[in-house]
Amino acid sequence: MKCSKCENKAIIKIPYANIALCKDHFIEWFERRFERIVDKYKMFEGSKRIAVAVSGGKDSTTLLHLMKKLGDNRGLEIIGINIDLGIDMGKAYSSKSTEYAVKNFEILGVKYRVVKIKERYGFTIDETKHKIRRPICSTCGLVKRYTLTEIAEEENADTIVTGHNLNDMAQFIMSGYFSGDVQDLARLDVITPPEKGYKVKKVKPLFLMYEKEILTYAIVKGIPFLYDSCPHTFRVGGVTQDTIRRKLEEMEEAIPGYMLMLVENFINKIQPALKEKYIKEEELGKCKICGRPTTKGREICSFCAVRLKMTGEKVNVR
Ligand SMILES: [Zn+2]
Ligand SMILES: [Zn+2]
Repeated sequence: MKCSKCENKAIIKIPYANIALCKDHFIEWFERRFERIVDKYKMFEGSKRIAVAVSGGKDSTTLLHLMKKLGDNRGLEIIGINIDLGIDMGKAYSSKSTEYAVKNFEILGVKYRVVKIKERYGFTIDETKHKIRRPICSTCGLVKRYTLTEIAEEENADTIVTGHNLNDMAQFIMSGYFSGDVQDLARLDVITPPEKGYKVKKVKPLFLMYEKEILTYAIVKGIPFLYDSCPHTFRVGGVTQDTIRRKLEEMEEAIPGYMLMLVENFINKIQPALKEKYIKEEELGKCKICGRPTTKGREICSFCAVRLKMTGEKVNVR
């Protein structure tokens, strides 16, 4: 297989674009595509200081490298954040995650923060497993989002970016259709405006990048990343989620560009309609403990409820 742009051997086929590319042309194509998506969706309009959430996996480390380059070209400040969630399960997952995140922060010379949730909030994700009724991945997501927002604010960032890729988005959308989670689907923004009274927006710059392309980029660029996936994902969410993901990959093979169409159409056309129908901002309450927005009718936010249950401690009101 020859590169579509030169005489060199292609290392990757990109069926939906009908091209095959060599290492150098792939890197160039991938970086340009990233910038085109950033521009098309005006992701960083008004941004000056961007916090990149880095777990140490291929998506977030690739995102960090892309953001550093973008930042250098456009005068945006980049700060790395790694959250040590306290996931061990005999595999030292969180400490490895931190190790890889820090490796990349140092390679790129970006400022960074590592936050241990055990030190900051008094519990670990592993410890929530039998104490909190919701699925552990959902608790973890909640804790991650909350911590990230707090740290970004402490660091005076105006934007948080996360490494959700196209395959993650497609899987989330299909699961949402399957289970009818309209609220979750309505909240699946690519650019999430700041919570009421706050200033940090959240952006998913990799939402149209295929997992395979990200992985290839990370490998050919020699980016050090953690191959292990979280030890909890195999136990929770399990077979259904896995199957949806696999079947989407099969659809992609049969219809090149399938996931791209699915996600782009969802974000451009379906999500805004769902948001208008199902999300009523003015109905949000205020958490009695931390002061952040809560679901209507709730006295304390979901994070404070988890923390209270785990430690009995109340966070100071802001
Ligand atoms: Zn080439
Ligand atoms: Zn709260």
